[in-house]
Amino acid sequence: MQEEMVKNEKAKIVSEMAASVAHEIRNPLTTVRGFLQLFGSDDIDSAKKQFYQKICLEELDRAQAIITDYLSLAKPDPEMIEKIEINAEITYLSNVLLTYGNFNNIEIRQDFLPDDSLAIVGDRYKFRQALINIGKNAIEALQHGGLLEIRASSSNGQIQIVIRDTGIGMSAEQIKRLGTPYYSTKDRGTGLGTMVSFGILRKMNGKIEIDSELGIGTEYRLTFPLAE
Ligand code: ADP
Ligand code: MG
Repeated sequence: MQEEMVKNEKAKIVSEMAASVAHEIRNPLTTVRGFLQLFGSDDIDSAKKQFYQKICLEELDRAQAIITDYLSLAKPDPEMIEKIEINAEITYLSNVLLTYGNFNNIEIRQDFLPDDSLAIVGDRYKFRQALINIGKNAIEALQHGGLLEIRASSSNGQIQIVIRDTGIGMSAEQIKRLGTPYYSTKDRGTGLGTMVSFGILRKMNGKIEIDSELGIGTEYRLTFPLAE
């Protein structure tokens, strides 16, 4: 009964999300279509053409960013439940984040669990998406360089993952809005990353705690039950 309710609730959230993401992607596509049509007319000069092209590229980038942030929830495969070894995931996450942009002076520090076999339970690919979305925000908060730490620890039948950056930080007001759809303070943000992450982590019985201070940095603490 309880399980059935959770399942229905989940299906509802995913379908609402899909509708709203489809809507957000349709907007840029409509814009691009309109400009491509204008492109075909004889009486536009090259300055205008360049302007239209710039907008088209920006709109396509936006559609792509939305799809990237939303990727795993939109994936139709049934949810996999498997053991996820945390040390391997920390290595994976660090490698992915290293490829994000040319970062000036960002140091990534890692701290591993004492045992590579320590694991939590969930869908590995969704879990990766959740951590990447959080890590990407940390990288984006480090515009002027700094430290990104990814640490794991284990105690009392739980595993805690800490993702901490010394970036721009958030106000209390900003923290409150985290995880709500389309909330973004970035020029080209989607405001979907944290919403997707939190959805995935909560489904894994993960607890999410956030500390942040403007100009100091941000710490995400994610706590999960240890796999048997
Ligand atoms: P997006 O990254 O597209 O803006 P997100 O949902 O990933 O959307 O994040 C929402 C907002 O939360 C960001 O625009 C930013 O203002 C804030 N935020 C999230 N993580 C951090 C962080 N580590 N440091 C500073 N701000 C953050
Ligand atoms: Mg983001």
